[in-house]
Amino acid sequence: MTPMRPIAILSCLMLAPFARSLAQEPPPYTHADTLRGSNGPQRAWWDVTFYDLHVRVRPADSSIVGWNGITYRVLQPGQEMQIDLQVPLEVDSIMQRGRTLTYRRDGNALFVRLAGRARAGALDTVTVYYRGKPRAARHAPWDGGFVWATDSLGNRWIATANEGLGASVWWPTKDYLADEPDSQRIAITMPDSLLDVSNGRLRSTTPHPDGTTTFEWFVTVPINTYNVAVNAARYAHLSDTYEGEAGTLTLDFWPLAYHREAAERQFGQVEPMLRCFEHWFGPYPWYADGYKLVETPHLGMEHQSAVAYGNHYQNGYLGRDLSGTGLGLRWDFIIVHESAHEWWGNNLSAQDHADMWVHESFANYAEGLYTECQLGKTAGAAYVIGTRIGIRNDRPIIPAYGVNAQGSGDMYPKGGNMLHTIRQILDDDAKWRGILRGLNQTFRHQTVTGKQIEDYISREAGIDLSPVFAQYLTTTQIPIFEYRVEGTTLSYRWTDVVPGFTMPVRVMISGLGTQLLHPTETWQTLTLPGPGPASVIVDENFYVTTRDVGAGRM
Ligand SMILES: [Zn+2]
Repeated sequence: MTPMRPIAILSCLMLAPFARSLAQEPPPYTHADTLRGSNGPQRAWWDVTFYDLHVRVRPADSSIVGWNGITYRVLQPGQEMQIDLQVPLEVDSIMQRGRTLTYRRDGNALFVRLAGRARAGALDTVTVYYRGKPRAARHAPWDGGFVWATDSLGNRWIATANEGLGASVWWPTKDYLADEPDSQRIAITMPDSLLDVSNGRLRSTTPHPDGTTTFEWFVTVPINTYNVAVNAARYAHLSDTYEGEAGTLTLDFWPLAYHREAAERQFGQVEPMLRCFEHWFGPYPWYADGYKLVETPHLGMEHQSAVAYGNHYQNGYLGRDLSGTGLGLRWDFIIVHESAHEWWGNNLSAQDHADMWVHESFANYAEGLYTECQLGKTAGAAYVIGTRIGIRNDRPIIPAYGVNAQGSGDMYPKGGNMLHTIRQILDDDAKWRGILRGLNQTFRHQTVTGKQIEDYISREAGIDLSPVFAQYLTTTQIPIFEYRVEGTTLSYRWTDVVPGFTMPVRVMISGLGTQLLHPTETWQTLTLPGPGPASVIVDENFYVTTRDVGAGRM
């Protein structure tokens, strides 16, 4: 992805007020976008099983030096391997079984020549030694990289955030969402008594004679490479446990030392969040690796089992409510939204950024469900409906595949409203909850396509929802419920829809009460109980628009 492309800022978090002015057509995709975003011939033949990452961080000159041991299984014979490492980082050497390998560089991609042709089924390791000054984040987490900050006491405060941009901005990796390692070591060496909190569990802390310390973290499960993070500061450590659906979950909180009391107060929201999301989505996906919140100099990111938190210990989104209802001020946006990604994005992960709606639509929808858990179903619906103020309908939510492209920021509020609409279509909350839990169980710890998610929901719902997904995800048009009343006849149909669009909708009709209608693109009629002015009101829980095309209304 080109760093300055406007969609680069539409990373994990919704920025409705800012993003609106940035709406424009993305530029044409480049050769580099294809290398980065597709399963090219130098990627397809091997499957990552383990990353053994070791990085020494040198804040004095904003540089890093390290190595990554890439262990892989050979799927089909191959000899040239694509490994991604973004400029300006430089390779020192690439080794395999004691031999130095040759490679050619094509921008941010390294094409490594192996000593021999790999045999299918074999397990092997290539180790990349590298160094340099990684791209400094311009506006993390949206325009990311390495964040070199200081806390208010002047201590160094270092973090990484690289969703969209990619993990290869700071470590050599197969920067392709469809291939996650089965497990990973993250060994970070820091100076200045800084404590590093990365993903998974801390296995060892090793002080060195030069005053630096190595923190060895280990992730026991598949992880999105963009979730692998450095977070280093003078942290306090708070510990707790949560008795959940899959047993005892450890909770570890890492606020800046001088924010300990604020964290003790604000992070009380973690347990009700977990309770709500386990109810709706199933067990937290990483009991083995624990749940952590780590204070960061950027707003937040869903870093797996180590959620980045930078919301300044206040409710809302930096104190604001993205729904305009006031309901968003009843809870901490970063705790709720980013933790929802542990299910939507981390447990089941999109294979292509084009399907990021699988992460963000469900995380947005989870905000409404959390509101429902706390304040009731009516409030939850009001929150979801309220977030429509952030919908732009500027571009489709799904852009091109294979070029690491992200679609419209509408993947947040419009995607959430699509899911809320589907819940209305089902009109069976037990079944809807079963679908949300079933998705997390069926695709547990896997990468998925958006199509797999759509098909699963349709199958379990017993309703072909493919026209609904196509409408909301691939067009910028909102279905219009057109109607007219003539005498005692109500006529209605859908317009501004994809061909073959069908979707039931609840309508309140004076004299008839609430009716579930099944409009299509063709006019249908309904007989009203008597002549006279009729009131026809579509249930606002359906994200559609209404147009009265009766006499004099056109
Ligand atoms: Zn998000």
